[in-house]
Amino acid sequence: NLSDKLDKAFHILKGHGKITEVNVAETLKEVRRALLDADVNFKIAKDFTTKVKEKAIGQNVLTTLQPGQLLVKIVKDELTELMGGDVAGINLSGNPTVILMSGLQGSGKTTFSGKLANYLQTKKNKKPLLVACDIYRPAAIQQLYVVGDSIAVEVYSEPENKNPVEIAQNAIKHAKANGFNVVIVDTAGRLAVDEAMMTEISNVHKAIQPHETLFVVDSMTGQDAVNTAKAFNDRLNFDGVILTKLDGDTRGGAAISIKSVVNKPIKFVGTGEKMDAIDVFYPSRMAERILGMGDVVSLVERAQEQFDEEEARKIQKKIAKNEFGFDDFLSQIQQVKKMGNMKDLVGMIPGATKAMKDVEIEDDAFKSIEAIIHSMTPKERSKPVIIDVKRKARIAKGSGTKIEQVNQLMKQFEQMSKMMKIMQGPGGKNMMKMMGN
Ligand code: GDP
Ligand code: MG
Repeated sequence: NLSDKLDKAFHILKGHGKITEVNVAETLKEVRRALLDADVNFKIAKDFTTKVKEKAIGQNVLTTLQPGQLLVKIVKDELTELMGGDVAGINLSGNPTVILMSGLQGSGKTTFSGKLANYLQTKKNKKPLLVACDIYRPAAIQQLYVVGDSIAVEVYSEPENKNPVEIAQNAIKHAKANGFNVVIVDTAGRLAVDEAMMTEISNVHKAIQPHETLFVVDSMTGQDAVNTAKAFNDRLNFDGVILTKLDGDTRGGAAISIKSVVNKPIKFVGTGEKMDAIDVFYPSRMAERILGMGDVVSLVERAQEQFDEEEARKIQKKIAKNEFGFDDFLSQIQQVKKMGNMKDLVGMIPGATKAMKDVEIEDDAFKSIEAIIHSMTPKERSKPVIIDVKRKARIAKGSGTKIEQVNQLMKQFEQMSKMMKIMQGPGGKNMMKMMGN
């Protein structure tokens, strides 16, 4: 699947120290292939990788990060942008707010009508009315009643009337007279785009002038979803897209392509058959889902915020010159602490959560370490070799710890200095590795 492929693509970058034209090209070729496999339109995939490449090359790679991690972040930001950037809200103006559902048969209009009614009733304190305008099959009207019953929302229907325009207009009158402030009009779809369906939905659209016209599409339909979206948008100029069936073995590609082709925001996603299986669409979360990179992105963002690049370079130099002391150790600890709760941090590393599940990481694990270092004289901090038994006893007393704890820290520090010299970077990632050991 897509995330496996991207995983592989990013793996190529591992071990390289810099983002360069050569290593980025190979990785982005994989990214493009993965997007194409997920049914993203060819031109969109190509433009996308070109943009990422421009952004990536020449980027300073923080010493604490792998170039691959930084590229993940760039890819994610671009994907987010491609899917609309921000969260698109639903327009609830008007009294009543009129919402029209459109889309092919089986896309999930009736189910989503119920989900939206339920969402507005429970989360937005609204009083919605569901309207049955699928007049071709008695079973369709019955289906909407079942949905309405399950969420305690009234359904308006006129089984004898075969004119969806009239039914929708009458429903709005009924809503006004009975204090409903949202009217959700469920319509008939067909298996493929045809003129009769388009004419019918256009007529309803013209007659009721909805505040929100939503296009519902099955996310499993891949490239076809784009063509259908275009056909509906040409006729209805809809306001937003609903991506259903994102719970299955779905291709995230539809979300990317639809947004690029019709330039309308995706507003909600459906993630199951039940009435509460509805989510607001977050472009950044979707990008993360498509990338399947755990929370690597947030880890990178936090690292970027908190790590002072210059500081890291200075420390690297010190290590090279054998000048790394307890003051530097202390500032490293403070950097890591600034990044947040240790458990959170470890949880953000893909694969680490499982491995670390049984390891107890205490948030204040650093407290006694800090106390001990604070009890050292500046000279002891910069030249730890001078710390003998007598000094250790004084430090233990001053920091309120036991001499064994001081010994332990000295040992850890020694090991750490050794390891740091071996490893390239002195940053948070390496620190955490050592803390975990
Ligand atoms: P309509 O013809 O557009 O009204 O589509 P329906 O609402 O009748 O849905 C068609 C089928 O898809 C039904 O079996 C629904 O239960 C199912 N369905 C709708 N939305 C979702 C979803 O988000 N996830 C899953 N797994 N099934 C869905
Ligand atoms: Mg239906």
